[in-house]
Amino acid sequence: MGKIRFQNVSLNYSNGNSVKNVLENIDLEINKGEFVCVIGPSGCGKSTLLSLLSGLNKPTNGIVTIDGQKIKGPGTDRGVVFQHYSLFPWLTARKNIIFGIKQAGKEKNKARILKRAQYFLDRVELSDSGDKYPFELSGGMQQRVALARTLAMDTDILLMDEPFGAIDPKVRYELQDLTLELCKDGDAKKTAVFVTHDIDEAIFLADRIIFMSPGGAYKDIKIPASIRNL
Ligand code: ADP
Ligand code: ADP
Repeated sequence: MGKIRFQNVSLNYSNGNSVKNVLENIDLEINKGEFVCVIGPSGCGKSTLLSLLSGLNKPTNGIVTIDGQKIKGPGTDRGVVFQHYSLFPWLTARKNIIFGIKQAGKEKNKARILKRAQYFLDRVELSDSGDKYPFELSGGMQQRVALARTLAMDTDILLMDEPFGAIDPKVRYELQDLTLELCKDGDAKKTAVFVTHDIDEAIFLADRIIFMSPGGAYKDIKIPASIRNL
């Protein structure tokens, strides 16, 4: 699972009588196990591109597929992390993560679900905060819970929209490491599409960077491992 394909995809937003072409004739393939970063100026359509993959949006023309199947809407086969951590405010950090694990539906045993939730709390360095509610956590901590919730789902595809934009550099580097580590878990490498403003972050994370300009024109650059590991 995990090959993504955009075929001649266009998307316009229309407000009353004005129409805005955000994406025009995008043809793009992302291979299974590839980590792709999407970078470009604000408003060029990065979030829109990602929303086609999460299934929250539909192309005006063209087709987006995963392993040859047209994306019809949101699905638990894709893990999503947004910039503004979308935790459930009425659930503790632990229960937010448990929710993710249950959504994914791979693990049914209660004891193992609890163990897995604690493992991910540990990994994002929130070992002792599992019973706190989102309002009791800082923004950076909430984002770590959101990351843990999504990674704990263990989906083949990860979609991330500036997930570390609001996190201070030290924790940010740790979360970048963690994201890479969990994407390269054994043989089952995940396919990741990661939107960022930060070119350093893109070079550090990506196998390939897609540079978008307004209108969705793009250039595609492979990052050799020798550069990533500098
Ligand atoms: P980016 O993520 O690169 O900042 P977006 O994909 O969020 O860009 O937005 C691309 C363009 O589409 C922007 O000009 C934005 O204002 C516009 N846009 C985004 N969502 C909508 C919407 N729901 N309705 C109308 N215009 C929108
Ligand atoms: P080391 O030599 O042990 O890798 P560094 O100080 O170079 O130490 O980096 C420490 C960590 O900071 C790295 O493992 C990586 O997660 C992160 N890091 C370093 N440089 C960057 C960068 N340009 N962008 C993102 N993360 C970085």
